[in-house]
Amino acid sequence: MRELVVLGTSSQVPTRTRNHNGYLLRWDGEGLLLDPGEGTQRQMIHAGVATSQISRICLTHVHGDHCFGLPGVLSRMAVDGVEQPVHLHYPASGEETVRALVAVAGRSVDLRLCPHGAAGEVAEGLDVVPLRHRVETYGYRLREPAGRSLVPERLAAAGLSGPAVGRLQREGEVDGVRLEDVSVPRPGQRFAFVMDTAVCEGADELAEGADMLVTECTFADDDAGLAAEYSHLTAGQAGAIAGDAGAGLLVLTHFSSRYQDVTPLVSQAQAQADARAQTGGTRVVAAEDLDRFGFPRRRALKQ
Ligand SMILES: [Zn+2]
Repeated sequence: MRELVVLGTSSQVPTRTRNHNGYLLRWDGEGLLLDPGEGTQRQMIHAGVATSQISRICLTHVHGDHCFGLPGVLSRMAVDGVEQPVHLHYPASGEETVRALVAVAGRSVDLRLCPHGAAGEVAEGLDVVPLRHRVETYGYRLREPAGRSLVPERLAAAGLSGPAVGRLQREGEVDGVRLEDVSVPRPGQRFAFVMDTAVCEGADELAEGADMLVTECTFADDDAGLAAEYSHLTAGQAGAIAGDAGAGLLVLTHFSSRYQDVTPLVSQAQAQADARAQTGGTRVVAAEDLDRFGFPRRRALKQ
């Protein structure tokens, strides 16, 4: 099961319809709680997300709209008797803030503090890459290892069906037929999370080939001056990043409270994504609180 559960979509201050931002990425057995802003605990109830589903908490940076939900969520985990270890990832320079937030929550959760101070893999398949904001900020990327997609016609031609196909996938060869002979390479799925940044190399790197790309979209193109002043993305910039990267689905979020209707921001992002797209094309959507997004189908390489 892989899906993004949107818990909130507002930057800086919440609105009547948008909670402070926060997301749960369900990725097979893992549950990554990303940037829990204030009110995340209650949004989890609305979204039907249980604390037992959380195995990691990932903070891009320690501005309040990305981490003030942490004590509430940790306290709730303690109330729920969550026993699994929970890894908390955050920029090392945010140590003091993170420790303060963790301290007010008490110590009943088996919380493992995992600060990072440079780009790299912080857990299996989970990378951090620096972004450009007013404080140290890192985006996240989750990578599935590359695999192979079976080609039904080749299987049939090789005379393989039923349990033999399962054996072929597990063992790599059955009755002289090799997996490579009846399949094509398939890139692993990728999820990227680009939050609170100006346009930068790190954003491009994270977005590259993402099946699902979640970016901040704090400002409309008309407010590009504000975006530059506060180191945020405009809708058009978010779309350009996604288009250049060949992202499959771009989920826009972290909207300024000044926009009651974000439809124009989607259009601005889609226009830039379309202008940059080399292949396929990026579908752009605006996240609403409590939305759920499944991953687009894997894109098998032609051979
Ligand atoms: Zn923010």
